[in-house]
Amino acid sequence: MPKRIYNFSAGPAVLPEQVLRQAAIDIVNFQNKGIGLVELSHRSKEFMAVAEECETLIRELLGVPAGYKVLFLQGGASSQFFMIPMNLLKKNQIATYLNTGTWSKKAIKEAKLFGQIEVPYSSEDLNFTRVPRDDEYTVNPASEYLYFVSNNTIFGTQFQKMPATDVMLVSDMSSDIFSRPVDVSRFGIIYAGAQKNMGPAGVTVVIIREDLLERVDETIPTMLKYKTHAKDDSMFNTPPCFAIYCVGQVMHWLKALGGVEAMEARNRKKANLLYEAIDNSGGFYRGHAEKESRSCMNVTFTLPTKDLETSFVREATEQGFDGLKGHRSVGGCRASIYNAFPLEGVERLVDFMAAFAKKHQ
Ligand SMILES: *Cc1c(COP(=O)(O)O)cnc(C)c1O
Repeated sequence: MPKRIYNFSAGPAVLPEQVLRQAAIDIVNFQNKGIGLVELSHRSKEFMAVAEECETLIRELLGVPAGYKVLFLQGGASSQFFMIPMNLLKKNQIATYLNTGTWSKKAIKEAKLFGQIEVPYSSEDLNFTRVPRDDEYTVNPASEYLYFVSNNTIFGTQFQKMPATDVMLVSDMSSDIFSRPVDVSRFGIIYAGAQKNMGPAGVTVVIIREDLLERVDETIPTMLKYKTHAKDDSMFNTPPCFAIYCVGQVMHWLKALGGVEAMEARNRKKANLLYEAIDNSGGFYRGHAEKESRSCMNVTFTLPTKDLETSFVREATEQGFDGLKGHRSVGGCRASIYNAFPLEGVERLVDFMAAFAKKHQ
């Protein structure tokens, strides 16, 4: 196998090499049983053990309290945009949404199909360069929940701390789940598509407070009710077995490294290196996000001209750095440095950035 490149992709994204190697073995011959992992019945005792272990590790690593269900769903993170309001809101009920980027905008659009949606904060007119401080908006106390995207993958902004409100929180943590500790007890729902920070595409992890399962309107189709999946431990129908297995392996890896606290320290170190490189470049590189809103997961920046950005990405690719082109709605460059991204790759990129700036300044 050739040397692994440094994969800065925003998602699907880099996974720990040891997880990929183990999966390569298990996919052919699971636990030496003479049958491949993806050939196992989802109701076999072997696969049930895989799913149970994955859930146990998720609970342990994120500190999920009793009274919450952990679900493994399909349809991507995007299906949660409608499932949440469909299950939690009635037409005349209010929910508050913070508009901090593409993913919150899409969630707001869907939520409006189901209830009264209030948006007391939007950074859209600033091209989503920031997330709000607590004193920049008020949450209508009649809200059923406050919805926010903890890390804005495309724009590279992140809530440094969770919003302070008495209203129940609901969060899309697709791109920063397991990157730092969270107090799950403040949330009604936390969800995340696996393909950024915990596995391959195909499974969405939903952590939901059990009392919310009972709120559902009986007109909701069976597959779209959280209650259906909660009641059958995500085995109402065939779950995404391979993706669940991989998430479990990533959880093992994370636990061995010291869990989310250790991960947070690692992630800060990586992000600080990159932001220092940007800030100390004499204006050659400019961060897209305002400093107080900077993400530890997705570092977005621009160069003096589009041509330089094109050369930057091309030369970087030649040197083994992949996935640095920014999202089309921001332009510029984006370095996604999720949990599994190695510190060494960030150090190498920082060196490359300094050399590139020197050559073109
Ligand atoms: C990638 C992403 C999504 C969309 O995920 P899909 O699984 O493709 O639907 C939603 N929210 C955030 C924050 C994301 O980063």
